[in-house]
Amino acid sequence: MSQSRESVARLVEELCRDIPDFPKPGVIFKDITPLLADAAAFGATIRYLSEYCKRVGAEAVVGIEARGFILAAPSAYAAGIGFITLRKPGKLPGKTLSQSYTLEYSESALEIHEGIVRPGTRVVIMDDVLATGGTAAAAADLLERVGAEVVGMSFLIELGFLGGRDKLAGRQLDTVTTL
Ligand code: AMP
Repeated sequence: MSQSRESVARLVEELCRDIPDFPKPGVIFKDITPLLADAAAFGATIRYLSEYCKRVGAEAVVGIEARGFILAAPSAYAAGIGFITLRKPGKLPGKTLSQSYTLEYSESALEIHEGIVRPGTRVVIMDDVLATGGTAAAAADLLERVGAEVVGMSFLIELGFLGGRDKLAGRQLDTVTTL
């Protein structure tokens, strides 16, 4: 039987913690570590995410550094497909392509290894939290620049009040729970 979104949403709501004023005043950080530490909840979460990857016909899962890696790597393994890393600048050892984007008060960028994705590969992009959507939109743009087909985007928690979904209009989006 497949893992229902509702059952995983209940686990996320029960186990994830709010940490106020982290990493800076005014931000309520959604901490997924208690969910990861619970074997049954972590297992159910990965089952759900890997089934989503299979449902949309993904051939690889792309994780966004760093918490995206924790979810994307086991989901890729469980779905029997590859795992691709999108990293912060200067972390990947080989030749990279970079996509910069604007955060609230600063600029950042994501990098991918050149040649790691075969053109035409169907990918799901995965992260823990969809907040303003800037990171996810940059990830999708970068994957498309290297010729991938972004067939899905997957998040455990969507912060609906930040409107990140608007930056991903027209994309196949799956969020386990909206807070
Ligand atoms: P975004 O604003 O959607 O570009 O989010 C930027 C990155 O920071 C994403 O990788 C999110 O996972 C993470 N992030 C943003 N806001 C939060 C939050 N309130 N709690 C935990 N992670 C967050």
